[in-house]
Amino acid sequence: MSRVYNFSAGPACLPEWVLKKASEEMLDAHGSGMSVMEMSHRSKAFEDILHTCKDRLRRLMSIPEDYEILFIQGGGSMQFIMTAINLLKHSADIINTGQWTKKAIAQQKKLGKVNVIASSQDDNFTYIPKITKEDLTPDSDYLYICENNTIYGTKYKELPVHDGKLLVADLSSCILSEPTDVSKYDLIFAGAQKNMGSAGVTVVIIKKALLQENDQIPDMLNYKTYADNDSMYNTPPTYTIYIVGLVLEWIEEQIGGLEEMEKITHKRAKMLYDYIDSSKLYSNPVNKEDRSYTNIPFVTGDPELDKKFVKEATEAGLVNLKGHRSVGGMRASLYNAMPIEGVEALIKFMRKFEEENI
Ligand code: PMP
Repeated sequence: MSRVYNFSAGPACLPEWVLKKASEEMLDAHGSGMSVMEMSHRSKAFEDILHTCKDRLRRLMSIPEDYEILFIQGGGSMQFIMTAINLLKHSADIINTGQWTKKAIAQQKKLGKVNVIASSQDDNFTYIPKITKEDLTPDSDYLYICENNTIYGTKYKELPVHDGKLLVADLSSCILSEPTDVSKYDLIFAGAQKNMGSAGVTVVIIKKALLQENDQIPDMLNYKTYADNDSMYNTPPTYTIYIVGLVLEWIEEQIGGLEEMEKITHKRAKMLYDYIDSSKLYSNPVNKEDRSYTNIPFVTGDPELDKKFVKEATEAGLVNLKGHRSVGGMRASLYNAMPIEGVEALIKFMRKFEEENI
């Protein structure tokens, strides 16, 4: 068996510790005589898995008691819709930082009025626009942001002013890479398939005060339904929740928590940025202070050479480095499960490729 270093933006690499534990428990999980996939979601064994997962997330992220943790299907894309269905009454302020806010804008426009109050589209989303409280719309219900932009490789290092309005944030590609002060947000969502587990579940962390009775909202689209039913109004994605639980166990017990995780996140990103900045062949187009720690795009400036890079890297066991089709070039996603050795191997390959091609 030979494992590759997988730089995919998601679904992404998982810690080997998690994969091994899942395989050990495949035939007989928790003494049940069956795999987690075969368990009823109403069984005591699965309820324990769900509650352990939830409790770990609350502990790891220090989620205050006045926030609810929900597990929902439909991906981040469903949250573009659910956030608006549940919270948009007058209008929504959105900062456009790339593909994932564009998609949110398009969906929320179908449900109400959207104000795009700032955008970095003028420079191909290579920076995070700064706003002042004057940019907020007087009647808007919330400010919506994508905290880490998976495709363009930008990240908010400080949250924007929201001046008493609700703050709704998509943390799909940065959750658990660092500690998060949850109390600064009103709603956080994140698909699991990048930094938290496998595809199929989205974690929503929402202020309990926002969970309100509303007959106009279909039950499956109402956050309150999930909160009232312990995320088991219908059959939840049981195996995915189990994998999220294992990833949380790995962060808590093997890594030592999110402060430790953040040190590794910063170390990985610094290694690659330092190399790119010192190289004569590669460049990263993002404004330095807005650079993502988890998604790092880079180009050689020659699309044919980029293609050659991706091909040779794949042959060398460094896979999924092709940039998103809207940006081109390359992108290395350095999520929690990427070992430092993977970044070292990438830099070594980049150096060799540079020597051969410059
Ligand atoms: N938000 C961000 C930041 C993403 O990177 C993605 C997917 N790459 C999405 C939302 C959409 O998630 P999904 O495919 O789970 O709907």
